Amino acid sequence: MKTSSDLGLPLVGIGLLYREGYFQQYLNADGFQQESYPENDWYNMPVERKLNREGKPLTISVDLAGRQATAQIWEVRVGRSFLYLLDTNIDENPPDFRNITASLYGGDKENRIRQEILLGVGGIRALRALGINPGVTHMNEGHAAFLSLERLRELMTEKHFTFAEAREAIWPTNIFTTHTPVPAGNERFDIPLMEKYMKPWTGILGLPWKDFLGLGRENVNNDSETFCMTILALKLSAYANGVARLHGEVSRQMWKGLWPGLPLEEVPISHVTNGVHPKTWVTSSMSSLLGRYFGPHFEEKPEDLSVWKRMERISDEELWRTHERRREQLVVFVRDRLKKYYKRSGAVESHVREAEDALSPYALTLCFARRFATYKRGNLLLRDPERLLKLLRSTDRPLQLIFAGKAHPHDIPGKELIRSLVHFAKEYDVTSRIVFVENYDMTVARYLTSGGDVWLNTPRRPMEASGTSGMKAAMNGVINCSILDGWWDEAYSPNVGWAIGNGEFYSDENLQDDIESNALYDLIEQEIVPLFYSRGRDGLPREWIKKMKMCMQEIGASMSSHRMLMDYSNKFYIPALKNYQRIAKTDCSESKDLAAYFTKLNRSWSSIKIGGVSSNAKPVMLRGDYLTVNAYIELGELQPGEVLVELYHGHIASVGGKIENAEHTEMKSVGKEGNGYKYQVRIECSQTGNQGHTVRILPKHTALVHPYRYDFIKWA
Ligand SMILES: *Cc1c(COP(=O)(O)O)cnc(C)c1O
Repeated sequence: MKTSSDLGLPLVGIGLLYREGYFQQYLNADGFQQESYPENDWYNMPVERKLNREGKPLTISVDLAGRQATAQIWEVRVGRSFLYLLDTNIDENPPDFRNITASLYGGDKENRIRQEILLGVGGIRALRALGINPGVTHMNEGHAAFLSLERLRELMTEKHFTFAEAREAIWPTNIFTTHTPVPAGNERFDIPLMEKYMKPWTGILGLPWKDFLGLGRENVNNDSETFCMTILALKLSAYANGVARLHGEVSRQMWKGLWPGLPLEEVPISHVTNGVHPKTWVTSSMSSLLGRYFGPHFEEKPEDLSVWKRMERISDEELWRTHERRREQLVVFVRDRLKKYYKRSGAVESHVREAEDALSPYALTLCFARRFATYKRGNLLLRDPERLLKLLRSTDRPLQLIFAGKAHPHDIPGKELIRSLVHFAKEYDVTSRIVFVENYDMTVARYLTSGGDVWLNTPRRPMEASGTSGMKAAMNGVINCSILDGWWDEAYSPNVGWAIGNGEFYSDENLQDDIESNALYDLIEQEIVPLFYSRGRDGLPREWIKKMKMCMQEIGASMSSHRMLMDYSNKFYIPALKNYQRIAKTDCSESKDLAAYFTKLNRSWSSIKIGGVSSNAKPVMLRGDYLTVNAYIELGELQPGEVLVELYHGHIASVGGKIENAEHTEMKSVGKEGNGYKYQVRIECSQTGNQGHTVRILPKHTALVHPYRYDFIKWA
């Protein structure tokens, strides 16, 4: 939202106003996570309740299993952009509805579906109530996917569209971003729950119940499949993406079943790598240093990413002094937090005073702060205690570790991870070298991502969709040391940080932990510690500073949220908005055409036959030769212009015999022949080695954003 404001995009955000937010974390004396749920003080927050003409709160309502839930709307002004938050905590609602927006990730599955109906269906209604009529909707994660149902309903009731027509009108203007490969993040609802809450939609959308459920199923005929919000979103969006290059690949692999017969690399899920907002995350001292060297561009034209190229010019002394000052502030901050923790857990006064000696403002500081989900492996560094202790206890080149992060309240293994860190420090008497900071939030994050020297991340590849804290760190000159997962897989180079391993895949998790923890110790012992402590006569670690600069220069530009939002705009928002304008101008006639086209395609798809593929191919062809391929194709009631006939050609893999890295070239109809048509194409032989080709058919219509539509692909 901040970036959208900076760029002046006409974008509004919709979310829920969680009365309690997430939760507040504190540890008991044993190091076990406890949760508290204090209410936010809305009277001191920059939110404003929207009122109607009579001065009463503006509200919308949604049907929840036959009862109406009402929500009021809060406005958050984010610079020039607006964020609207729905809130069910009002007198009109019964207690169970008032709790719908009580807390993030709170409640059971039933509360989840209520939240998601409110967010999706209620979200669109709130926009209408506010007089905002979006052309394009962007679902961030499947949780918002019910918004498509409301968009369909509007078109069907207000414009008397059929379901198929309404669908063709929203598909080209829907964007869906999937944010995690972790199964729990890809919400699924059991059919009884769907039945309780979603059954009215069969009437509204005029769909048999089975077809409605099919919108959320990979296989529409599989009655035992639960209803998946990710699938619903994918089926109703022309544009879809993951949040890093690697995550795009992983997502195509995860969801390829929705496009049976389509080669993996063509599955229409691309990627836009996440980014972070520099003005939010680059600390003010660093920001003013950059401003001095970069000029006013850094703050005033954040979309000008080229300013980061000027890192070279910054004096080593100034950069290092600024960074060391942040480390000191981090140490002071952590000591203060520790003191509070010791006091609360009933420690004697002498013990509380020990907090004042915790950490050193001069030691090499490694930070690990993130959600304590087990796949992130917060204790990988503790795997070989002797090796770690040697690093921690060094008197001339000491290492210290700061951990922070919340485990999900139901995630007992995650909480055990935190406890094991606290226990380790006590057991080996290194409480001044390993500390856990409670209640990780943006304030804690700001200290850690600017005051540490190394930012550590150890996810089990490829579970980290993107990760963003490492970007925050990099922009402050804190160097990343991470598994090649998420964003780091594409951002890493030896100039900007360290990679743990080479991105290998392991089926044995224990073996993986052994190998990767060893690789991490090696890196710390052989590269990180020596580089940090090799100081010139002026006390400066010149090589380290060089790396800091390279990392700020590269990652500052490439992982800025301005780059991200410009990517979203160029790849999705602007094309989708153009679709919307075109569709609106013709009062959706193009969508109706498309719907009629697909009805026809459905009817005649099975009568399409690809026969007689022939070519002038010889056992050996030379580069520069021409290959002509003919195919005889029967189209039933379809015309040649109504299908896309393609030659699919490329290198044949030596193992498996499949065509890989294929190209596809459209074949043209060159005339009628018997009951069908002759199609032809001529391509130049440009590749060496064993080549192959085949013919395939896809839908073709001028209004189609792309031809990849579920079952419509046929191969020779
Ligand atoms: C940035 C941030 C996150 C997300 O960090 P990841 O690297 O994506 O795990 C989580 N919590 C807080 C408080 C943050 O500031």
